[in-house]
Amino acid sequence: MGKIVVVTGGVVSSLGKGIAAASLGLLLKARGLRVTLQKLDPYLNVDPGTMSPFQHGEVFVTDDGAETDLDLGHYERFTGISLTRNHNVTAGQIYDTILSKERRGDYLGRTVQVIPHVTDEIKRRILGLSLTSQADVHIVEIGGTVGDIESLPFLEACRQLRLEHRRDVLFVHVTLVPFIRAAGEVKTKPTQHSVKELREIGIQPDILLCRSEQPLTGEVREKIALFCNLPTEAVIEATDVHSIYEVPQVFHHGGLDSLVVRELGLEAGEPDLRAWNDFVARVEHPEHSCVVGVVGKYTHVRDAYKSIIEAFTHAGAANRARVKLRWVESETVDARNAAHLLGDLDGVLVPGGFGERGIEGKIAAVQYARERGIPYFGLCLGMQVATIEFARHVVGWQEANSSEFEPQAPQKVIDLMNEQTDVTEKGGTMRLGSYKCQLKEGSLARRAYGKAEVQERHRHRYEFNNRYAAQLQSRGLVISGKCVGRELVEIIELPDHPWFLAVQFHPELKSRPYEPHPLFADFVRAALERRRARLGSDAYQPGAAPQEADDPEDRSAPPIRQA
Ligand code: GLN
Repeated sequence: MGKIVVVTGGVVSSLGKGIAAASLGLLLKARGLRVTLQKLDPYLNVDPGTMSPFQHGEVFVTDDGAETDLDLGHYERFTGISLTRNHNVTAGQIYDTILSKERRGDYLGRTVQVIPHVTDEIKRRILGLSLTSQADVHIVEIGGTVGDIESLPFLEACRQLRLEHRRDVLFVHVTLVPFIRAAGEVKTKPTQHSVKELREIGIQPDILLCRSEQPLTGEVREKIALFCNLPTEAVIEATDVHSIYEVPQVFHHGGLDSLVVRELGLEAGEPDLRAWNDFVARVEHPEHSCVVGVVGKYTHVRDAYKSIIEAFTHAGAANRARVKLRWVESETVDARNAAHLLGDLDGVLVPGGFGERGIEGKIAAVQYARERGIPYFGLCLGMQVATIEFARHVVGWQEANSSEFEPQAPQKVIDLMNEQTDVTEKGGTMRLGSYKCQLKEGSLARRAYGKAEVQERHRHRYEFNNRYAAQLQSRGLVISGKCVGRELVEIIELPDHPWFLAVQFHPELKSRPYEPHPLFADFVRAALERRRARLGSDAYQPGAAPQEADDPEDRSAPPIRQA
């Protein structure tokens, strides 16, 4: 077994535990260690697949088709490793396993209890991954906030792990040290209480990561150390930063990685952060800029589009540009106001989504982008609405639709495939995970990717209906990507347009800081080109254009607070 670092959070939620865990992973990996990360979610849903993005944010899909918590996206982006279904464990899965065993009679008449049965199953999942991953360090993040009823079995399981593997398990606790304006100073009491809560259940944290608006004075750190029973060097400040990608640098300066390495007795040199620092510098100091509209229905819950926002950060950095995102609520768009809402954009993107609401607005947005030559990028549902729009307005099938929105449509250009039609359950009927896609020679997709075959992740139920393929193609639609081994359309594009491409998969899930997704990178390049053609320049000017003003609606642009 390798070493285990357990990351917990206290005081309030949304302190950025996921980013903290991912940042530690990055730092240890930069020291040459093999790292893996796992998220334990205390809710009773078996996976976040059936949870609304309004409640839970984006569902992150892994290569093996698991629908997981969005923190796994941070883990993958920060460490570059690909995760699987074993890297996200929910209380729902734990109870599901235990109840099935109980029904099978596996417990031989014994009473089934939280301790030891639930805690044993949690430990089994943690240790199982430690073993199979062969990681030097396995970082385990426990969701929720210390003090929640739901997270207790997970904390208890980790307490036992420490007892059983004393030198191999370390506890890192993320807390908040708020600045109280009326008092004119920061307050350590919430941190003290949160640590007290942990100690009551037998866990003494080894390291505190203290989120605060301002740097903490030595005095404050000493006070926290004294009251929380830690050496002062283990009280590490996590000051607010402009971009989440700066967090590893902040932690490194605070001494986090050297402390973890020392406490766990690991042999590891200084971290090589040159590539990371270079990436952060490019994010912080753009030379160019453009504005892309995201036309979706979860636009006020930015967590729902986490990976898309990050993919634009990566693609922007690759083009030395800042991509400003304008969030357009799809329900508000129609043919009459499209020019007003979208006319000054350099690119339009329609993201994935489920359900009928806002569909007509998305179709209107696609039509506007297609007719005006604005670069268009469709993701999943964004490809389906692009197909419907083409069928309606280019081919002339006024009532073409997807059977998801209109089961009686005369031309269901997007439909369930035969093998899916009798499935009634909502969970478990989707095409999920990684599939190979063959790219058409001479196409925009092939040029952008620079290769003939790619693998991309899916999460959808409906497909392009091949019955209509020939008719759509005869009017100019190009099918430039097809699933390898199955008759499924993966990419469509329009050659008579500056940049119009839509994909059935979710490319945003595979974008990384050092490896921006090729389609995002090329879309941003096209958007910058349009901006130059339109305005004569795409130079980045802080504060110049109205959309460059401090727009609280826009979390794509610094300064943003660490999530
Ligand atoms: N609702 C569509 C489907 O199920 C698209 C899904 C998505 O965009 N992720 O096929």
